[in-house]
Amino acid sequence: MRYRTLGNTGLQVSEIGFGAEWIEKMDDADVKAMAHRCVQEGINLVDCWMCDPAVRSALGRALEGERGKWIIQGHIGSTWQDGQYVRSRDLAAVRPAFEDLLERLQTDHVELGMIHYVDQVDEFHDIMAGDFYAYVQELLDAGKIEHVGLSTHSPEVAKLAVEDGRIETIMFSINPAFDLMPASADLDTLFGDAYDDSLAGIEPARAEFYALCERENVGLTVMKGYAGGRLLDAQKSPFGVALTPVQCIHYALTRPAVDSVLVGIENIAQLEEALAYETASDEELDYASVLAQAPKHAYFGQCTYCGHCQPCAVGINIALVNKFSDLAALKEDTPASVKAHYEALDVTAGECIQCGQCEPRCPFGVPIIQRMEQAEQLFGC
Ligand code: SF4
Ligand code: SF4
Repeated sequence: MRYRTLGNTGLQVSEIGFGAEWIEKMDDADVKAMAHRCVQEGINLVDCWMCDPAVRSALGRALEGERGKWIIQGHIGSTWQDGQYVRSRDLAAVRPAFEDLLERLQTDHVELGMIHYVDQVDEFHDIMAGDFYAYVQELLDAGKIEHVGLSTHSPEVAKLAVEDGRIETIMFSINPAFDLMPASADLDTLFGDAYDDSLAGIEPARAEFYALCERENVGLTVMKGYAGGRLLDAQKSPFGVALTPVQCIHYALTRPAVDSVLVGIENIAQLEEALAYETASDEELDYASVLAQAPKHAYFGQCTYCGHCQPCAVGINIALVNKFSDLAALKEDTPASVKAHYEALDVTAGECIQCGQCEPRCPFGVPIIQRMEQAEQLFGC
């Protein structure tokens, strides 16, 4: 495993990190085995944005006895309310949620305290000027976090965060599709000939942000390196061709200021696929020639299953509904296993009351109400 210094924090992080969000699908033994395998291979960075108490506890048990080998990115503002994920700025919810994180991870501190998911400029200013940041400072002073970070999908917010000077690291969504994606616009038109050179077509606000990080030595950790798995599947990729995990990781790790890619891992096989990066040949790393031959497509409006649209007014797990719909749409006949998974959901898309609360929370402009209608038609409930 190769290591990089995470910007000004001075922390030595493995260039491949463990994005732990999918451990919710695993039993305790598998989570433990996964964590051990990570340690064996030298992975030392884990991201825990998840607020589900069961998931936090499972991760805590997996890190037991090996806490010293890990650098933890713990999120401030990711809360669990009435059985659902709620991104909150209300300290009455945020404080107990962060204390709960420490307790369940069986630790008294995390190395990186991440202000969770800020995509709006106004919200960023409110956080930094108000009692939310005062709480972050309190955590710093008490040694419960060692460094302050922030997670965002917005280059505008990310840039402000670097300029602010109090944010030491940023967790940012980076992959070849997002980098070419203008924040708002007709992507088919604006993509132009961007694929001929991956950096020539980079969206200017993102390029500016990367350059600023490089200049200020603010280290980036990467989420959504595979765009929710979509880049690995030619039929779902906006490029119309499949990249390998190694190519996606290489793309992210070759952006300016990037120090680690947090790979969302569901099983040991996926971990091994990511670890192959460490020994990959130049040919295996070469994403550019794949992209150069790709047909051009837009990306905006496609779900990456990130879950940021939650909570739903009636308790629909929107990310899972979209995931099952996308899986079903790949085949002419809906696969029985996908249908069974869908039907096992506590609340299905048919329950959507079209309140519209979720749509503004989606960083990717997914027409969620429309997607719920399509899922209902597809699965019949
Ligand atoms: S529009 Fe539908 S999916 Fe979105 S929050 Fe409302 S009920 Fe839930
Ligand atoms: S609809 Fe948007 S916010 Fe919700 S899971 Fe999909 S991409 Fe994420």
